[in-house]
Amino acid sequence: MKKKQTKNKKVKQCKKKTSLAANGYGFAINAGKSNELDMELDRALFRDIIDVISDILIVIDPCDYSILTANKKYLQKEGFSLKDIRGKKCYEITHKRSSPCMPPKDTCPMQETIKTGEVARAEHTHYDGKGKPYFSEVITYPVFDSRKKIKAIVHISRDITESRKIEDESRRYMQRLKELTLRDPHTGLYNYRYLMDRLSAEIELCKRHYFSLSLLIIDIDYFKSINDVYGHQIGDRVLLELSGFIKNLLRKSDTLTRYGGEEFVVVMPQATKRNALNTANRIIEQVNKHIFKIGNVSIKIRVSIGISEFSRESKLTETKEIFDAADKALQRAKETGGNRTAVFSALYKDKKKRSGKINYKEEVEILKRKITKLGQRVDQAVLESMYAFSKSLEARDYYTAEHADRMIAIASDIGKKIGLNKNILDNLEKAAVLHDIGKIGISDEILRKKGKLTPEEYKIIKTHPQIGAEIIRAVHFLKDVVPIVLHHHERLDGMGYPSHLKNGEIPLCARIIAIADAYQALTSDRPYRKAFSKKKAFQILKEEAGAHFDKKIVDTLIRIEKKKT
Ligand code: GH3
Ligand code: MG
Ligand code: MG
Repeated sequence: MKKKQTKNKKVKQCKKKTSLAANGYGFAINAGKSNELDMELDRALFRDIIDVISDILIVIDPCDYSILTANKKYLQKEGFSLKDIRGKKCYEITHKRSSPCMPPKDTCPMQETIKTGEVARAEHTHYDGKGKPYFSEVITYPVFDSRKKIKAIVHISRDITESRKIEDESRRYMQRLKELTLRDPHTGLYNYRYLMDRLSAEIELCKRHYFSLSLLIIDIDYFKSINDVYGHQIGDRVLLELSGFIKNLLRKSDTLTRYGGEEFVVVMPQATKRNALNTANRIIEQVNKHIFKIGNVSIKIRVSIGISEFSRESKLTETKEIFDAADKALQRAKETGGNRTAVFSALYKDKKKRSGKINYKEEVEILKRKITKLGQRVDQAVLESMYAFSKSLEARDYYTAEHADRMIAIASDIGKKIGLNKNILDNLEKAAVLHDIGKIGISDEILRKKGKLTPEEYKIIKTHPQIGAEIIRAVHFLKDVVPIVLHHHERLDGMGYPSHLKNGEIPLCARIIAIADAYQALTSDRPYRKAFSKKKAFQILKEEAGAHFDKKIVDTLIRIEKKKT
């Protein structure tokens, strides 16, 4: 009898406990079982189960969002005891605020579960006991009563802050990698790959909306000679500075890309060729005014710009066509002397006016002839003035008096004898005229000094190949003469100047000029000595062959000169 009473009391107690929750749900599952032991076991088992779960688990009353129970993980995270947490509102604890989540502003899966009766998921920020935010992945499950009403929500969440951080990091890393494949590492500008994608996208847009678009190809004139004179590193710095310089002259909507080595392309959306021409002219004008100061050298550069336009009238509709058109215009700008702009549509204007129809083959021929003629005229005019200039040098420098004419003859004879082709021979002859033009930058006191030069003065004399290269660098058709002028004082043993090149590193024509120069000097009268005999000059050259001069060329010169007598 007594036993039965105790049992009833326990059931009552259990019922009382169960009624703790507003909806009649307690933390004891199987509450209907009359077996006290079973109930205890179930309760303990329930607690053990939820406590072994490594995720955060809370059970919430859907009527008022109060917490019915929670597992150990949650209590640890929030720093509460089970007793203290019960009855508290979930939003007060996990969101540290005084009102419930308000969808759709707040992505609360519990609200959705309450609304739909279905399992819901979301990711959002929770706060731990110290108020520190952490990112959670949440799943909410409805628990129904016998009348299919939701009596509780099981809210399971996982702290994914760390894994999210790793994910974010790897996403950022991938993004960066993608960026890198689209950018030129040296200038930070977009590269060819990006340019092509962007250009096709822009052209599609133009076709759809009848916009116009222009393309500029900017190429540095005689850039190779900047590397030759100052070295590749300085050349790189020039490229970097120029990219920033051009960028500042463009509209925000224009995209500057590095197309190749020393070529840049600008995509100008919604710009007519007239707009593009204005921009291009502004670039040329500003570049002309600017001096690039790199370390202790000051460099002036020139650029040429080709322009093409996409528009319904221009008939250029594909990426490649637009690109090729700008490239053709660039070539025209170069062929007519550089440091200028050319617009593709203007290249064929005259012809169009005359016949109304373009015969491209004929057009190309006419163009070629025109350019060759023009080029020759320009070449001749420039060469003549340079020649005159170097003659004026002779008046200043005893050492070079009557120098140029003999130099051309000697160098040219050697060149012919060793079988140089016409083009190279032509450059060799130009170099023979111009090799000492840099002496223009050296004072008379040093140039005409009769006595021995001081080391300081010698150092100044040694700058003349560089000054010379710098002077002729400004003339487009002399670009292949620049290295010859620059290196005509190198020695095979590397003891020459300015670059201490050795043997085959020294351009062949520079090796020829060095010998012709020396021979010419040895066999001329000097203020301080009479001319050496040919025989003596041969002997001196032979002694120097190998260390200073190229032996084969010395032998060739001797053979030629011996024949003359
Ligand atoms: P032009 O365009 O007037 O016909 O003559 P150029 O000398 O500029 O043209 P060319 O195409 O003959 O030579 C381009 C030179 O640009 C070759 C190379 O020395 C130089 N170059 C290309 N890329 C780089 C680079 O990344 N850094 C440096 N320093 N030089 C480069
Ligand atoms: Mg080029
Ligand atoms: Mg160039």
